[in-house]
Parts: sequence; C-alpha cells; structure tokens
Amino acid sequence: MDAAQFIIPRWDAAVCKQSRAACATNGDSLAGPLENEPSGFLRRQALRFVAFATETRLLACRTAPMAAPPPRFSARLVDADDLTPLVRRLVFVREPSAPMHFLPGQWLNVFLPVQGAPAPLRRAYSIASAPRDDGTFEFAITRVEGGPGSTFLHAMPIGTCVEAEGPQGFFTRLADFASPTLFVATGTGLTPLRSMLLAAVEARTSTPIHLILGARHESDLLYRAELEALASAHPWFRVTFTLSQGAPDWAGARGYVQTHVAGALADLSKDAEPHIFVCGLQRMVSAVRDLVRKDLGLPRERVHGERFD
Ligand SMILES: Cc1cc2nc3c(=O)[nH]c(=O)nc-3n(C[C@H](O)[C@H](O)[C@H](O)COP(=O)(O)OP(=O)(O)OC[C@H]3O[C@@H](n4cnc5c(N)ncnc54)[C@H](O)[C@@H]3O)c2cc1C
Repeated sequence: MDAAQFIIPRWDAAVCKQSRAACATNGDSLAGPLENEPSGFLRRQALRFVAFATETRLLACRTAPMAAPPPRFSARLVDADDLTPLVRRLVFVREPSAPMHFLPGQWLNVFLPVQGAPAPLRRAYSIASAPRDDGTFEFAITRVEGGPGSTFLHAMPIGTCVEAEGPQGFFTRLADFASPTLFVATGTGLTPLRSMLLAAVEARTSTPIHLILGARHESDLLYRAELEALASAHPWFRVTFTLSQGAPDWAGARGYVQTHVAGALADLSKDAEPHIFVCGLQRMVSAVRDLVRKDLGLPRERVHGERFD
C-alpha cells in the first residue's frame, strides 16, 4: 500500500493505516506535492499530517513532527446518570457549539478545578460515544476510592463547564476496518471500544466483532442492555459477559477475560486474520497482551492496547 494514502471517514479526521498515527486537520486543502511516508517511520511517533483532499475522497499526506498542541475548548455537562454503582455516564457539549470530531477510540484531557489543588487537575478520559456532528460526547467514569478527579466528575452538577483538550491517542479503529476484531475490556476499559462499535454500527459494516467484557459482579456490567440489543440486531456482533465473582445463579461466562480470548480468536480466525483491541487497567492489558503475543503468536501489528493506569 502507498503509505501516504488513506481513506477518511470524515473530511477532517483521518488515520494512516500503516503507521496507525492519527491526525485531525482543520479541513484546509493545502497545495503541494504528494510525499510518501518516510521509510523507517516509527509506528507510534507523534506526527501531524498535512492532508490533501482529492475528488475520490482519498487523502494524501505529508508528515512532520507535531508542533502545535491539540485544540483546547470548553465543554458543558448536559446530562448524567449512574450506569452502575461506581460508574457514571457524563454527556458534554462543546461550547461554543462545534462538531465533535475524533477517531473512534480517542480520548480527551479534562482540567478539573478540584478544591485545594494548586492548579486544575488534568485527567484523561476515552470518549465512549461515536463521533457526532452536534458537538456532544459521552464519558463513562469509574469513581476511584479517594481519587480527586473521578470524585469531582461524579459530583459535577448539570450545566457546569470544564476545559478539555484533544482529541488524542492512537488506539483507534475506523468504522470501515476490514479485519475481524476481538474487543477485550474490563470496567470502563469498555469506553473506547464502545465508540468503535457504535461507529461501526452507524457505518453499517458487517465485519465481525466479538466483545469480551469482564466484571466482578453482574451489577458491574456496563451498557449491558445496549450491548445485548446490538448483538440481537447485528449478526456480525457478539458479546460475552464474564464475571470473576458471579453469583451462583449467573448463567453466563465466568472467570477473567483472559480465559475466553483463545476461543474467541480461533472463532474469528475462520475467515481472516483477526485483530485484538484490549483496554482497561495495566494488569489486565499486559496479561492479555502476553497471552496473545507469546502464547498464541499473534503478530504485534494485530494487537492494539490502551491502559488507564
Ligand atoms: C488514555 C486514558 C483514558 C482513560 N479513560 C478513562 C475512562 O474512559 N474512564 C475512566 O473511568 N477512567 C479513564 N482513565 C483514567 C483516568 O484518567 C483517571 O486516572 C481516573 O479517573 C482516576 O483519577 P482520580 O483523580 O480519581 O484518581 P487518581 O488518584 O489519579 O488515581 C488513583 C488510581 O486509580 C486507578 N484507576 C485509574 N483509572 C481507573 C479506572 N477506570 N477504574 C479503576 N481504577 C482506576 C489507578 O490505579 C490510579 O493509580 C483513562 C486514563 C487514560 C490514560
């Protein structure tokens, strides 16, 4: 593949499939020659792409070291509710109103004016919603015991504003991703995967996705009804809920997410080589990564991970 070319889902957001570096341009069409991606280019090197739109909606890009910081903007909390006893869903809207463009899987920094802190605390949160034109975006946030950032966000009244910065991150999967995909998450590690899943649903793709979502108890399962409804509506999507401390009457899968990865990958491998996207706390992400790389022999380029700690 010509590394300097990639198809974009929107005019101002794109990802180079070879390098997996993400870019967001301001939509300006810049004059200049097409340039191939330099050889020896680092997979996760921070880059700014300068993008050229052509009539076929193919972009060609030039790469250069990222100079400018990601955009900073105000976000107002417009809706919130509890998804589980520890996880709160927060819906924000950009102010002033502007479309919220990002790649499914990306995250934002928020700056939280926590009382007693010398400066606003910066915390990263993955966007749980698919990209939307109305400027809204959704977080799902675990309240960490004694954690100032998550405690502040759980107590935030509707109508309050925070500063945000982004989007950022390379843990992305475009809606038209063509390879069968295994998603693995525990807790709010689901958030970037939900964004990827909803984007795939909106794009009407049929590439198989199997999500393995782990939790301790049934009451900790995030977005359960929504995920079950999506699995019923779309034959290409399957969800496995697995509980590490399920009650005796739990009829679903049991054990850590790792227990179910090999079987799910074997199933997805029937038609094409699957990719795996894993997100959550470091211990789980490392355990799954080791399992698929060392024990199951998946090549590095098919293993994508994001950790929250
Ligand atoms: C790229 C990225 C994306 C993130 N996306 C999310 C998200 O979508 N939802 C979310 O809840 N958090 C997310 N986080 C974690 C978030 O940034 C904060 O670390 C978290 O909210 C704790 O902040 P705090 O100030 O409350 O506690 P701190 O005092 O800063 O942290 C205390 C400890 O909490 C633990 N912790 C961090 N995140 C979690 C979590 N989700 N569940 C359980 N324990 C945790 C860590 O071990 C950390 O050391 C993300 C982190 C990164 C780097």
